[in-house]
Amino acid sequence: MNIQTSDIKAAIDALEPYMINTLSGFVAAPSVSGREEPAAEFIEQELTAMGLEPERILLNNDLLKDLPLYACPCDPDNGRYNLLARFVPENPTGRSVLFNGHIDVVPTGPESMWTHPPFSPVVRDGWLYGRGSGDMKAGIVCALAAFKALENLGAQPAGIVGFNAVLNEEDGGNGSLATVHALQNALSKARLTDFDAAIIPEPFAETLLTAQVGVFWMFVELTGKPAHVAYMNKGVNPIEAGIAVMANLKELEAEWNAPENRHPLFKDEPHPINFNLGTIQGGEWNSSVPCTCTLGIRIGFFPDRPVEEAQRIVSERVRTTVARANEALTVSIRFEGQFGPGVVFDLEAPPMKALAQSHAKITGEEPRRIACTATTDARIFRLMSDMPVTCYGPVAKDIHGIDEAVSIESMKRVAGAMAQFIVDWCGVQPRT
Ligand SMILES: [Zn+2]
Repeated sequence: MNIQTSDIKAAIDALEPYMINTLSGFVAAPSVSGREEPAAEFIEQELTAMGLEPERILLNNDLLKDLPLYACPCDPDNGRYNLLARFVPENPTGRSVLFNGHIDVVPTGPESMWTHPPFSPVVRDGWLYGRGSGDMKAGIVCALAAFKALENLGAQPAGIVGFNAVLNEEDGGNGSLATVHALQNALSKARLTDFDAAIIPEPFAETLLTAQVGVFWMFVELTGKPAHVAYMNKGVNPIEAGIAVMANLKELEAEWNAPENRHPLFKDEPHPINFNLGTIQGGEWNSSVPCTCTLGIRIGFFPDRPVEEAQRIVSERVRTTVARANEALTVSIRFEGQFGPGVVFDLEAPPMKALAQSHAKITGEEPRRIACTATTDARIFRLMSDMPVTCYGPVAKDIHGIDEAVSIESMKRVAGAMAQFIVDWCGVQPRT
């Protein structure tokens, strides 16, 4: 069956209202990590409406906890689930692909800072605004639109096309881990061997990912000695010690970013290694030396360093700084939340080259390649399977910030490239 690139573009153009409506409904289903149910229900309905039969893959941390990529969770399982749907042609003659996207979003920050409420999506000047619009509900909608565009052209994939909507990406990664584990252990109708390639439509501006840093979260709990401020020197202040800890970690961050210490794929990034103090808790009120201080820190590191080594180096720095600040301080460190080594992706693998060519056919330009200074679920596929994987998704702005938005034109280009990829990689047959 012959489908021209111009046909794909026209079919995607016609789907613009569908894409806007679907993404709006998806964004309006709030799904901060740990409480993803509204978005899971929404996408379950969408997949069902497409004639697919989404399977619920339950998050069961007891099943996952001994896997090397398991991240100590911030939230209980609570019956939360991924949704995995497959289109399986009656007579498969082609290759296959899995589109994998996370439905969880990060916290919004104060709603008063948003121009429009974060879960009340609006379209303005070609952008769709709302928490999770860019990161990464738009990418999931692009994959659905690619499939629909081919349907509207009277075609269907000649190989299996899968859609996996996962939770818990932003603060762990156990969502994708649960699906890959289920696929590998016959815990789902689908099997890992169903898929020849995985594409994760994260909002990286139509680039292909060559590598990503490793990331872990740590919580540093400092305990000091409370005292009346009138006799402050009798006390030991753990919050002030926490400030010293962070200052010292920033020196380590600068060391790891130094040109001579860089992984070659990250040499052109302005600041690839980021240590972020994301939360700080402690103290009772202004006139007491506080009892405790807890720092919530995100650490990045290059792919050539094992995650356990990065954790050891950072922990040693923390302990040394605390001991130097005051011997009376006690410190405990726990690792919880995001946890994953850095990885390099093979963009010369045949499906990845096909994806680059699909992008070029739709846009007229070869896609740029980037090394990502954050982590993505691509590590799970890269390290637990032989399946080539990368990220490829639309242009977005202010993800994890205020007034997050995604470009609708970019969504159309990405959906077009995905449809072209299905045509070129999986092949198409007349729709049955
Ligand atoms: Zn994301």
